[in-house]
Amino acid sequence: MTLPLPFDNSYARLPDRFYARVAPTAVEAPRLVRLNRPLAHELGLDPDALEAPGGIEVLAGRRVPEGAEPLAAAYAGHQFGQFVPQLGDGRAILLGEVVGRDGRRRDIQLKGSGPTPFSRRGDGRAALGPVLREYLLSESMHALGIPTTRALAAVTTGERVIRETVLPGAILTRVASSHIRVGTFQFFAARGDVEGLRTLADHVLARHDPEAAAAEQPYRALLEGVVRRQAELVARWLHVGFIHGVMNTDNMSIAGETIDYGPCAFLDAYDPATAFSSIDRHGRYAYGNQPRIALWNLTRLAEALVPLLAEDEAAGVAQAEAARGGFAGQFETAYFGGLRGKLGLTTARDGDAELASDLLKAMAENGADFTLTFRRLCEAVPGAEGGPAAVEAVRGLFIDPTAYDRWAEGWHRRLADEPGDAAARSRAMRAVNPAYIPRNHRVEEMIEAAVERQDFGPFETLLTILTRPYEDQPRFARYAEAPEGGGRGYRTFCGT
Ligand code: AMP
Ligand code: MG
Repeated sequence: MTLPLPFDNSYARLPDRFYARVAPTAVEAPRLVRLNRPLAHELGLDPDALEAPGGIEVLAGRRVPEGAEPLAAAYAGHQFGQFVPQLGDGRAILLGEVVGRDGRRRDIQLKGSGPTPFSRRGDGRAALGPVLREYLLSESMHALGIPTTRALAAVTTGERVIRETVLPGAILTRVASSHIRVGTFQFFAARGDVEGLRTLADHVLARHDPEAAAAEQPYRALLEGVVRRQAELVARWLHVGFIHGVMNTDNMSIAGETIDYGPCAFLDAYDPATAFSSIDRHGRYAYGNQPRIALWNLTRLAEALVPLLAEDEAAGVAQAEAARGGFAGQFETAYFGGLRGKLGLTTARDGDAELASDLLKAMAENGADFTLTFRRLCEAVPGAEGGPAAVEAVRGLFIDPTAYDRWAEGWHRRLADEPGDAAARSRAMRAVNPAYIPRNHRVEEMIEAAVERQDFGPFETLLTILTRPYEDQPRFARYAEAPEGGGRGYRTFCGT
């Protein structure tokens, strides 16, 4: 297959007020940094054609491919708790949708491809650092098995973007099940546009939740589906130490994918109060607050949907309440279920949640690295090959190693009740406790090399490592290590 791409644009068929039609702005001298060939193949696109000059022109927004119907979507959103009735794609342009080899429909969007009617005071551009960061982190999340938008390509533009300093410009091609957000529903709800709300809900039902579409109360089923997907998603974030950093309602996907990789980062030392984002001064989006914030955002979605849920408002509110009420139980099931797996438990017993919570508490009190603790536990299973050296390796992560010893007594007692041998247990644990996450100090080194020295070697290396996060990869062992000082004081910035 060659270009043109096989577009089928369902969002562009929605009414005009859902978006603004706008073409990407041509950039000066595009250069391909990286094409995600396996993803291109999955989408039914020809990787060779995309890597050829004509393909790069498309990925850089210099040429609108046949079949594309470029648009910037309208949406609203609560940003740090404040409602903004009009946001929208200010520096992203949806080229269109393709249906992949797996039958799944996906958006192909350029991020950083020039201004749109929603740009407000922004330039519509993206800098190279944040583009590489999003590429790497989103592909890392995918490899970890966590639902996420994907990165199809990164190109440099040959232009400069002005931030606090002058930086090289770049464009990311982002792939998502859709870019519909909680804020998209809020956009119509805030305008009292019930017809728009219903049209959007019907689009979402057809696209993301055909089962809910067939339910007795489809709009309630839609809300329940979003609630369930978010509960599971946030649980998965917590299992790998991921902090999204800017969980505004415009950054929460209806499809349940991790979206918007601006200021996100992974924990090193475990501390649930960790918030890396420079603008998150009060820790609203701190690691341990994420479940609460997800529910807060879902409550905003529930409110927006009230007019669709019942004829009269009181009944609609009751429906919304009931649908959102599922969150706590679904989150706990997903969260503690995942922690069980991380501890090598295949059966469920009373006390498992306390066992997991006690470990996390000891880790927090002792500055233990989140990822290393769980990875090293895999080898410290009683009877496993690692022996006493493996136990020492975990103990050494705790300021007071006896805190680990005290916890491990209970763990060993609990494991004695489990079926299966030690080798199988270690193996199962290694499949859920990654060795490699995008460590902040490595991500920073990678960005510096690319931006300061046009050296994309570290980006390529990290990508190789992070697309196999559960494998030991001995030659890259140093990339599994924690930074000096547990990574405290790290700061991230919104990718503007
Ligand atoms: P974010 O913090 O990335 O979720 O962005 C919040 C809003 O600001 C969205 O409407 C973005 O489209 C918009 N925005 C962010 N950066 C830019 C930029 N450089 N130019 C125009 N709009 C932007
Ligand atoms: Mg955003």
